[in-house]
Amino acid sequence: MRIVILGPPASGKGTQAAILRERHSIPQISTGDMLRAATAAGTELGKQAATFMSTGKLVPDEVVVGLVRERLGGDDTKSGFILDGFPRTDAQADALGAMLAELESPLDCALQIDVDRDLLMERATLRRTDVRTGQIYHLKYNPPPPDAELEHRADDLEETVKIRLDQYDEMTAALLPYYKEKGLLRRVDGVGDPKEVTLRIVAVLEKEK
Ligand code: AMP
Repeated sequence: MRIVILGPPASGKGTQAAILRERHSIPQISTGDMLRAATAAGTELGKQAATFMSTGKLVPDEVVVGLVRERLGGDDTKSGFILDGFPRTDAQADALGAMLAELESPLDCALQIDVDRDLLMERATLRRTDVRTGQIYHLKYNPPPPDAELEHRADDLEETVKIRLDQYDEMTAALLPYYKEKGLLRRVDGVGDPKEVTLRIVAVLEKEK
């Protein structure tokens, strides 16, 4: 199974991609996680990316396309993959199409998780990560245990989330007609308990078989 998960920031892409990774035993390729790892490791690429990420802007296409190209070349992607947070622009979608054509591995579908803007704002600004486990919590909907060591992602601060949502509307929303035209777009309602959202996704993917 080769899928891309689309959806605005805080739509639950990462959570759902991780569930699908376990269900299907295929890698989850998250450009956000890769960029955060590069930043934490202090690499040159990480330092460059951090200036965009901390202000909610998209990292330049050539940087993320390079990361994904390298990652898709790995042996563990032969039986499939879930791309989480990539592509985010037309240029990235074109680059992905070319890479997959070269690998003779076309996409099965592009899954859009729909959530409206007010709820996205609330989700992102109250989202916290336990730095010890990587587990994501929400202060209102999924409160962390008392011993969690919580981190608030700098790009989840209110002003930055607004910019990220604007960037999504300006650049990434264009991918919906892009994949629709190719007959690959599938949409699920991302509102509700994450387990219910998973069931909706599973129902959509079953139809692809
Ligand atoms: P995410 O964890 O997917 O929300 O990504 C966090 C941040 O990483 C984004 O706000 C961007 O700054 C950057 N980023 C992640 N994926 C991409 C991408 N495909 N294109 C450009 N920037 C990205």
